[in-house]
Amino acid sequence: MIKNLSQIAKQKKIKYFLISFVDLFGVLRSKLVPSQAISEMQKNGAGFAGFSTWLDMSPADGDMFGIPDPESLIQFPWNREIGWLASDLYMYGKPVKASPRVMLKDQIKKLSEKNLQMKSGVECEYFLISQDGLSIADKKDTQTKPCYDQSALMRRYDLIKEICDSMIELGWNPYQNDHEDANGQFEMNWDYTDCLQTADRHVFFKFMVKSLAEKYGFRATFMPKPFHNLTGNGCHAHVSVWSGKENKFLDKKDPLGLSKLAYNFLGGLINNTQALSAFFNPTVNSYRRINAPPTQSGASWSPSSISYTGNNRTHMVRIPDQGRFELRLMDGAANPYLLQAGIIAAGLDGIKKKSNPGDPLHCNMYTDYKKYPNLKKLPYDIEQAIKMLENSKTLQEAFGKDVIKSYVKLKNSEIKDFKKKEKFNKKKPVTNWERINTLDC
Ligand SMILES: [Mg+2]
Repeated sequence: MIKNLSQIAKQKKIKYFLISFVDLFGVLRSKLVPSQAISEMQKNGAGFAGFSTWLDMSPADGDMFGIPDPESLIQFPWNREIGWLASDLYMYGKPVKASPRVMLKDQIKKLSEKNLQMKSGVECEYFLISQDGLSIADKKDTQTKPCYDQSALMRRYDLIKEICDSMIELGWNPYQNDHEDANGQFEMNWDYTDCLQTADRHVFFKFMVKSLAEKYGFRATFMPKPFHNLTGNGCHAHVSVWSGKENKFLDKKDPLGLSKLAYNFLGGLINNTQALSAFFNPTVNSYRRINAPPTQSGASWSPSSISYTGNNRTHMVRIPDQGRFELRLMDGAANPYLLQAGIIAAGLDGIKKKSNPGDPLHCNMYTDYKKYPNLKKLPYDIEQAIKMLENSKTLQEAFGKDVIKSYVKLKNSEIKDFKKKEKFNKKKPVTNWERINTLDC
């Protein structure tokens, strides 16, 4: 039975709904709809002009409609009269192929045809910064190795508690909050679940952190590398594939606890990572975080080469425990839907081709990388990543040629704008262009 949003509004005393969607650049856009109009909107959707968003549309195109998914409803814990809804975009009665949530749902459908479902969790790191974005907010947070600093964490207790309490109320099952490896940087973790739900929650989490930070007078940013000398904002994902209640990635007899299916899936990821960096690390600024020089704390905690390992954080893929792996490539600018969709597309390719990820490496990749000159490297900058995506037959097939073409076109126009004004240099401070275009990613 489809949930009736009008009835839910009455029961939960919701006065307004935000019917939202995320475009190709990950921008969260919405219409605020009074509950008296939600019944109509649930059926026909909220209207948007596609050209006004990053979706490669024309001003001459007809209305685009966001049809809300009632299963995604989140009642704001800090303002219960508002209900947030993720929506799927439609135009001329058909789903918009290049809209990220539709792209993810397409991949989920392909995986489900094999009777498989992906579950995932994301670890979204963020900074609390000054309003102008030029420095961190906490002037006392100056340690060289500030990770897990209790005092710096507790100076932000009120804000972090409110975010964590919100997640408890929403039933996300949060279980830990900490100060991360850069000054001014935090991370909050909640339970993994079905990947569409994780993507919706990921979108809402970023909005929630930014909104509540504003309430406390701070600015929160998920920008991949707001400060060139500090560790960047990663968005690691923990991934497993299930068939009903059975974890199909688990094989207790394997030394790392992974099944053949998991290794094939991983092989697909390893083979497609270079092109997928265009989704996982989608901004100019992203490439200050990967292939990066060491930071003030001693390590960048982000990968440069394409490799996997056991419980070792210097590689792109870590297998911390049996039955799952952690992909450490993505950053805070990654579009939550394309992040999940990219992983499934690559995994499906690996399953189809029975890809072999090779042997795990157990070295310290930050110091021993020279011993492995044949390992494939991650793209050096966004331009390289976009070219790799453009040339990827696998991803063209997975998402459709037109969708990839749209993404490449929009990203190339962004790169052109950057190059008109700035030069990319990982060793030099973050440019004004990067701040203007990425601080609110
Ligand atoms: Mg972290």
